[in-house]
Amino acid sequence: MADFKVTQIDDNFDFDNLSWWDVVIIGAGPGGLAASLTTAHRALTTLVIEAKDTPGGQPQFLYADKKIVDVPGFPDGISGQELSDRTYRQAVDAHVQFRFNEELTAIEDTDQEVQGDVLKKVVTSKGSFLCRKVILACGLLHYPRRMAILDALESDVVHYRSPRVKDYEGATVIVVGGGDSALDAAVMALQRGARVEVIIRKEPSGKADTLNHVVELGGVIHTSAEITDATLNDGVISTVLNDGTKIDCQHAVIQIGFLSAKDTFEGLGLTLNSEGAVAIDPYFETSRRGIFAVGDVHGDIKLIAVAWAEGIQAAIHAFREITSPFWLNEKRLNDNKLALIAERLSSAAMQKRE
Ligand SMILES: Cc1cc2nc3c(=O)[nH]c(=O)nc-3n(C[C@H](O)[C@H](O)[C@H](O)COP(=O)(O)OP(=O)(O)OC[C@H]3O[C@@H](n4cnc5c(N)ncnc54)[C@H](O)[C@@H]3O)c2cc1C
Repeated sequence: MADFKVTQIDDNFDFDNLSWWDVVIIGAGPGGLAASLTTAHRALTTLVIEAKDTPGGQPQFLYADKKIVDVPGFPDGISGQELSDRTYRQAVDAHVQFRFNEELTAIEDTDQEVQGDVLKKVVTSKGSFLCRKVILACGLLHYPRRMAILDALESDVVHYRSPRVKDYEGATVIVVGGGDSALDAAVMALQRGARVEVIIRKEPSGKADTLNHVVELGGVIHTSAEITDATLNDGVISTVLNDGTKIDCQHAVIQIGFLSAKDTFEGLGLTLNSEGAVAIDPYFETSRRGIFAVGDVHGDIKLIAVAWAEGIQAAIHAFREITSPFWLNEKRLNDNKLALIAERLSSAAMQKRE
């Protein structure tokens, strides 16, 4: 089958009574969505498990309103939200099935076999699913790091992602954090008419260009600064910094990093590379057979288009393994050849020693 031929699953297919899935994908970010529509376009039954309540990954939960300008095909740019919505709709149209608010916790090997594949049991926070192949596309970032002093206000104007466009107009916004996400959030708020004060615990660590942009747009930067007190009155948050500065604001946007998804994949018994990310071979397969990894979870180049491309490639390798006999599979043939060469080399070395 040509790699671009689309063979869609029948509209009336009964997904509820499947004994096992062809492919289970962890994460509905760019990598997972691209992988899912690729396997579904090859008529493989495909389930995506997503920990959050919405698809899209980082472009949706980190920078929904940012104009993304480096994705091919969108010369005028596209927002993170729209890109996520479009890719999700494409996957839904291809009959990919989704489970939201459900988190991967383990992947177990079973003693059931289907056409040479040992079925895997994907265990989640809410249940388990049998499948032939797993594609990990869970990224490296997970839930935002929280700030107790502002959480204690229990206010809906304390945000862990940038609020929607209209929310800023005429408001004072404090942005807590000095990395790229915080500086991007500050630029977004300034461009929408807000007054912005950026509170950074040490020095800024985001891109110098973005920092300059914040300053040019009138943003005020406080370095070596921490919020030591915060109260809420009539929708206004009054904060006091460690140097005694008082700032009142209508919104607080906290961008102080993320809890890593590393906990998830460290528990899966996968070999990690020297950077602590999941190690893969040229076919995107991890050290556990039948488990692939794509996008930020292993990648050096962290871009939407790269996550898409890797998701698509892993999906096609998984498809080839599922549909071609084991002994004709290109990867397995190469693996066997390498194993044979290694065996010959070691027996030659043994003979020399004798
Ligand atoms: C501030 C910022 C701006 C950026 N701007 C750009 C840009 O302009 N252009 C560009 O190309 N790239 C940009 N990037 C990079 C880009 O967003 C990432 O490279 C891309 O999102 C990686 O996609 P992914 O699918 O690998 O992972 P993610 O987008 O991280 O998606 C992973 C998904 O997996 C889910 N997940 C995690 N753990 C579990 C679990 N245990 N169970 C179930 N689900 C789980 C997560 O909730 C998430 O939805 C930016 C990144 C940042 C931080």
